[in-house]
Amino acid sequence: MIKIGAHVSVAGGLHKAIKNAESIGANTIQIFGSSPRQWRVKLPSKKETDLFKEKIKESNIGPIFLHAPYLVNIATPDDIIRDKSINNLIEQMKIAELIEAEGVIFHIGTRKDLEIKDALKKCSEAIKIILEKVPGKTKLIIENNAGEGTKVGTTPKEIGIIIKQVNSSRVGVCIDTAHSFESGIIDEYTPQKIKSFFDEWEKEIGKNKIIVLHINDSKTLSGSCRDRHENIGEGYIGLQGFKNLAKENRANKLPWILEVPGFSGEGSDKENIKILKSCF
Ligand SMILES: [Zn+2]
Repeated sequence: MIKIGAHVSVAGGLHKAIKNAESIGANTIQIFGSSPRQWRVKLPSKKETDLFKEKIKESNIGPIFLHAPYLVNIATPDDIIRDKSINNLIEQMKIAELIEAEGVIFHIGTRKDLEIKDALKKCSEAIKIILEKVPGKTKLIIENNAGEGTKVGTTPKEIGIIIKQVNSSRVGVCIDTAHSFESGIIDEYTPQKIKSFFDEWEKEIGKNKIIVLHINDSKTLSGSCRDRHENIGEGYIGLQGFKNLAKENRANKLPWILEVPGFSGEGSDKENIKILKSCF
């Protein structure tokens, strides 16, 4: 079964995500476990998580992913920010365990003047701490970024180094189609380039490490290093790029999660899901 879904709102309670997903025809979801612009995390009550799990069981939705706040930065030379980030990710992982989510997707962050080698080491250490503090099944999922400034986690190689250093079955990768295009690690989604792209990821991070795909078109050109998502078929990747991706075996078995502006500007919508379904 093809898994196509989107980032959906949990305003009004976790269980609202399910209605929101169903209303746009999504059968897999990503949600924020807490406010994306705040450090503070409030764990959901048992009543909330029970209701959520009950509603999920009645639906055909899954897997479920959490997206960490944008503040998180485990590559930073600033120890205060790094500690806050580690603590935040620990809380996100706890929520993920409570609601039986597949994992927490996060961006590594910015290294500023740290050497890349040292930054990667700091990241691996942080991830080890988080996994140790939250035992269970839920995964920590590193998302590749658009290559802005000194952000860490742009290339398969960088992420691969962290994966090898952590050496845990609970660490995986989320590939964002727009970020990959914007950072220039793929400049065109042709069948041949898609194949080489997945070969490269497998070589650096190992097989079966890609857990989920963020499926977004891009408002900016390849190599722009500017992260601007666009509706499917309306950006520089183009509809044919997603059709080609749907034919790649290492991509079409994964959950596809949209994070697009939507045709009426209200976020990922029915229309984008319909377009993606038509790619298969
Ligand atoms: Zn993304």
